[in-house]
Amino acid sequence: MAKASIRYGFTLRKRYDAVLKQKRARYRCDVCGKLAVKRIGNGIWQCKSCGATYAGGAYTMKTEAGEASMRMLSQLKEAMK
Ligand SMILES: [Zn+2]
Repeated sequence: MAKASIRYGFTLRKRYDAVLKQKRARYRCDVCGKLAVKRIGNGIWQCKSCGATYAGGAYTMKTEAGEASMRMLSQLKEAMK
């Protein structure tokens, strides 16, 4: 039991480090192509070079969950036409 909880904590720690790294990372801007997109808020990313803003995941620019919900949103919009 004790062994299991230690292993669980280690995995969490690793995951936390990975999230922190992605949170600090810069991403390439789709508009100007420069590596200047930084996180400016929860799920909001902005290019420091041209000022383009993007909506993304809370800690990474693109998340699978985010893309899935975007897909769902566009499907909803289609359905509401
Ligand atoms: Zn840009």
